[in-house]
Amino acid sequence: MAKIYKDEDVKLEILKKKKICIVGYGSQGHAHALNLRDSGCDLIVALPEWDKESWKRAEKDGMKVVTLEKIEGDIISVLIPDMVQPKVYREFIERKLKDGNLLMFAHGFNIHYNQIIPPEFVDVAMVAPKGPGPLVRRMFLEGKGVPALVAVHRNYTGKALDIALAYAKGIGATRAGVIETTFKEETETDLFGEQVDLCGGVAEMIKSAFEILVEAGYQPEVVYFEVLHELKLIVDLIYEGGIYNMWKAVSETAKYGGMTRGKRIFNESVKQEMRKILKEIQTGEFAREWILENLAGRPVYNKLLEVEREHPIEKVGTEMRKLIPWLQK
Ligand code: NAD
Ligand code: MG
Repeated sequence: MAKIYKDEDVKLEILKKKKICIVGYGSQGHAHALNLRDSGCDLIVALPEWDKESWKRAEKDGMKVVTLEKIEGDIISVLIPDMVQPKVYREFIERKLKDGNLLMFAHGFNIHYNQIIPPEFVDVAMVAPKGPGPLVRRMFLEGKGVPALVAVHRNYTGKALDIALAYAKGIGATRAGVIETTFKEETETDLFGEQVDLCGGVAEMIKSAFEILVEAGYQPEVVYFEVLHELKLIVDLIYEGGIYNMWKAVSETAKYGGMTRGKRIFNESVKQEMRKILKEIQTGEFAREWILENLAGRPVYNKLLEVEREHPIEKVGTEMRKLIPWLQK
């Protein structure tokens, strides 16, 4: 069983003596900064000068905002996009690190794949909320929290886990529950999930079903509702109560058809491919590919995104969503 920390297991005091620097004021950054401040912590926000929008938002929220050159703190929390972190670390953070500081992340990619290699004399930890920043903020204001993962990569001071847990408490995560993991486990499962199951898997499943029905002469409008729109109802049932809960809720015909046919789609050869994808993640092959893709200016990424945008399901989807009153802004 995984170790799970709740509010009563964690003391906030250790955090209140520290100066915290939140780097970035985006999805996670703004939520961490506001929640930590409301928890009584001493913090500044560091931002690039060119990002006037984040800058204005942070100042409007009453934050003390400094440029990246002025990054400073006992705890430096790196909450900017993963692909820009190594450069920002090399240029602005590395030389500011002092003995016993804590370098914090919300995702393990750069540490796990050695894109950031911190000096021996600092602690390195992660608090990764299992939800987007706005939800982290909203739950906090409601007196609740978003569950999070906590991990320690380096425990130089012997206090790394205590401080990371206090940070998790400060953003409200221990109100829900904080699960202990490792940088390796968080990074590899995160990548696998988004590639195979969540983003990659779901998108291809929907498009394949759409293409096959449309090729067979069914009207795209009808197909859209069937293969995309209704997915939300199914996912909501699974999300709220698990897969068995979904089976209980659907018709007898859907149960029988789904239970007998689903396995023919996700058969052993598909699972074999999933294992191959996992291997690419574990060996670092995927990380290398994505890092090089970024260095090359994202030629493949841009092309693929364009293909996605032009898929026929997008056109019919735009029209069909106009019929759905609760989707109108
Ligand atoms: P984001 O895209 O919202 O970050 C935006 C912020 O980064 C802005 O304040 C911007 O000024 C700053 N920024 C952008 N480019 C920069 C650059 N070149 N130099 C300096 N600053 C720059 O990021 P996010 O989604 O909050 O992700 C931050 C971290 O949190 C990542 O490690 C991510 O994996 C992790 N995480 C995100 C989520 C999520 O739902 N968004 C959930 C869990 C963990
Ligand atoms: Mg993910």
